[in-house]
Amino acid sequence: MLAKPGPVCGRFAPSPTGPLHFGSLIAALGSFLEARTQRSQWLVRIEDVDVPRTTPGAADAILQTLERYGLLWDGDVWFQSQRTERYQAALEELSRAGRLYPCTCTRRELAGCQRGADGSPLYPGYCRTGPRQPGRPHAFRLRVTDTRLTFQDAVQGEYHQRLESEVGDFVIRRADGLFTYQLAVVVDDADQGITEVIRGADLLDSTPRQLYLQMLLGLPRPRYGHLPVAVDERGDKLSKQTRAPPLDDHNPGPALWDALRFLGQQPPADLLNAPPAEILNWALAHWRLQRVSVARTQPWTR
Ligand code: GLU
Ligand code: ZN
Repeated sequence: MLAKPGPVCGRFAPSPTGPLHFGSLIAALGSFLEARTQRSQWLVRIEDVDVPRTTPGAADAILQTLERYGLLWDGDVWFQSQRTERYQAALEELSRAGRLYPCTCTRRELAGCQRGADGSPLYPGYCRTGPRQPGRPHAFRLRVTDTRLTFQDAVQGEYHQRLESEVGDFVIRRADGLFTYQLAVVVDDADQGITEVIRGADLLDSTPRQLYLQMLLGLPRPRYGHLPVAVDERGDKLSKQTRAPPLDDHNPGPALWDALRFLGQQPPADLLNAPPAEILNWALAHWRLQRVSVARTQPWTR
């Protein structure tokens, strides 16, 4: 008898920094369709670990928009702000394994450093042998190695990165006591039983850090697929910073239709103004992840 494959589980994990816009709809819709066409669960997690960056009311607005767009999730919504104990336990595990060290470097002290894969400073290891400014509040950094990490992305193909030379030792808990996205996302994906992470390609270069943490913490590795990120005429990512307009909760059809087009699917023209359930039904019957373009960014103008 053939072994039954384990249950598949996907997710959408928005940061509540503002309302959803077209750029975030791509990740929501792509992860939803990839999960639902495998008859699997699709969970929503609000990534409010960086509390000072959250906007009051944004989480509720995001959930309402998802509902209006027919992107209905399973189970309870998780909030990272309620999961500090789990992150602390993971930090202690890394610490016991001798992987962490206190770092007192401030953003300003690192401003002149060479930049890493994601554009942030490539940590030059100043505090590796002891904090440079003992007595100052300190972050915890994870000591990385320079082995080449490789994975097969379901959209972008093979991706590899050397953490030490391309990213550097990275922060697990900040000097203000907040846990970082990299730690929180790995712990949460594991605790929620996520097997499929479909998200924007702006996070492609974060994935090796996440694979590395999974290895150190003994957590399973999900399948990853990174969708092109929508950019404007100047090549800037659609975001709150570039004033991407919020999605219209009262007229979901056109944005859903556009998002399908953006993802390389070919929705029929007469569905443009159809109710969301009708557009999603078409999408569920025709969705093919292979049609998504193999690009980190893709221009989008209305
Ligand atoms: N919260 C992240 C964001 O909104 C997404 C994290 C993820 O999907 O891993 O950019
Ligand atoms: Zn330091």
